[in-house]
Amino acid sequence: MILLDDVTLTYPDGDARVTAVDRVTLEGRSGVLTGITGPSGSGKSSLLALAATLVRPDSGRVMIAGTDATRLSRSQATTLRRESIGIVFQQPQLLPALTAREQLRVMAELGGSGRRERRALVRGRVDELLDAVGLAAVADRRPAQLSGGQRQRVAIARALVHEPSVLLVDEPTSALDTARGAEIMGLLARLTHERQTATLLVTHDLVHREVLDETVEVVDGRAALVTTRTR
Ligand code: ADP
Ligand code: MG
Repeated sequence: MILLDDVTLTYPDGDARVTAVDRVTLEGRSGVLTGITGPSGSGKSSLLALAATLVRPDSGRVMIAGTDATRLSRSQATTLRRESIGIVFQQPQLLPALTAREQLRVMAELGGSGRRERRALVRGRVDELLDAVGLAAVADRRPAQLSGGQRQRVAIARALVHEPSVLLVDEPTSALDTARGAEIMGLLARLTHERQTATLLVTHDLVHREVLDETVEVVDGRAALVTTRTR
C-alpha cells in the first residue's frame, strides 16, 4: 500500500549536506501496524515526511496505492495526500476555538473534492469516528477542556475523516504518561486492523512495542526490519 523504495534524503548543512535517510526500503501493508524505532536524530521523522509526500527524496521512489508520488506535481501530491494519507503529528495541533466535532467537520469540508454528495458523506462519518475513538461524550468540548490523551484521540479521528489507506503517526505518546500512552497505542492498533490502514508509527518508547505488528529500527538513516509478529 505504501512503499519507500531505496529512498535517500539529504538536508543542507552549511557547505555540505547531511544524509537523514540513507537508501531505505520500507513497506507498509494494509491492516499492518509498523513501528519505526531508533535513537533521536536517526531519521524517523524524515522517513515519515517522505511517506507523507511532504518532502521529495534525492533519489528513490515513494509508491502510494500504486502511484509514484515522486513524479507528481505539487497539486497532484496535495490531492493524493488529502485522499489517501492520514497524518498525526507529535502534538495534536488542534484549533483552540473549535469543539472536537468541529475539528473533524473542518477536515471534512477541506476534503471538498467539490462534490456536494461526497462532502455530505464525509460529514456523516464524523460522529461515527468520534465514537470509534471513545470521544462521543465529549464531542462538544474544545481542546482546553480535553485531556492530553483525548486531544490526541481527536487528532487520530481527524486523520481518518477521508478514510485514508495510509496512516502516518509520529510519536503520539511522547506527551502522555505510560497508561494513557498504552491506550493510544492500543487504539491505533485496533483502528489499523479494523479499517485496514497501512500504518507507519514512529515511537522511541520500548514499553509500547508489544502492540506493533512489525518493528523497523532506524540507525543513522539506515533501516532494518527487526521483528514481524504473526497475528
Ligand atoms: P528523528 O525523527 O529520528 O529524531 P530526524 O528525521 O528528525 O530524526 O532527523 C534526521 C537527521 O536529519 C538529523 O541529523 C537531523 O538533525 C537532520 N534534520 C532533520 N530535519 C532537518 C532539516 N529540516 N534541516 C536540516 N537537517 C535536518
Ligand atoms: Mg522525530
